[in-house]
Amino acid sequence: MPPVPASAIATRLSAIRQRLEAACRRCGRAPESVQLIAVSKKQPVAAMAAAAAAGQQLFGESYVQEFIDKQQQLDLPLEWHFIGALQSNKVKYLRGRTALIHSVDRWSLAQEIDRQWGRIGQRARILLQVNLAGETSKAGVAPDQLSELASQISTLAHVRLEGLMCLPPYAADPEQVRPWFRQLRQLAATLQLEVLSMGMSHDFEVAIEEGATLIRVGTALFGERD
Ligand SMILES: *Cc1c(COP(=O)(O)O)cnc(C)c1O
Repeated sequence: MPPVPASAIATRLSAIRQRLEAACRRCGRAPESVQLIAVSKKQPVAAMAAAAAAGQQLFGESYVQEFIDKQQQLDLPLEWHFIGALQSNKVKYLRGRTALIHSVDRWSLAQEIDRQWGRIGQRARILLQVNLAGETSKAGVAPDQLSELASQISTLAHVRLEGLMCLPPYAADPEQVRPWFRQLRQLAATLQLEVLSMGMSHDFEVAIEEGATLIRVGTALFGERD
């Protein structure tokens, strides 16, 4: 599939926004309670610029080098989230440059984020990625280790744990993903965390119905990645 032309991105963005609003109406939520993250990994900067011109301010990237490169190229007042696997030795490159890290899944990584953000006298906002189905191919803390990790993190002065993120098993029918979203919401409620990052291109409406506050949409907006 060829990349989506920049001229089509505004149209696709507004279609996604309409779907977001319709999902909110169905479950009686305010549309402002759900933020759309444009997942721009492996997409050209021109496509991001087109989305920004159409009003999209929040972007999600998965690779540190690409994140840095694009941030330098796109000198716009955007909000950047980091959503991919993160090695501790690369945290320093993100220091002060990302509004939210979605993918923290271990104590050593949280400690390194704390150390780096401490150097700039700020507090990093983070989510814990939860591996709900115990998939070996995916990162994430196991549900039964979540509360211990959360309580360790609560001792860190330069990290603020705000919520949970998941990347559940793919199912062609989004209804089959619903129980995973519901489980993430229940885990967050137990920990009194408010932010729920869940739902992607093919299942974000179900995620919204289950309480998502951040949805991460790539393909539906930008088309297939290289
Ligand atoms: C790539 C990616 C997405 C976007 O997926 P689409 O199916 O293209 O919408 C969302 N979340 C994470 C963590 C990703 O890596």
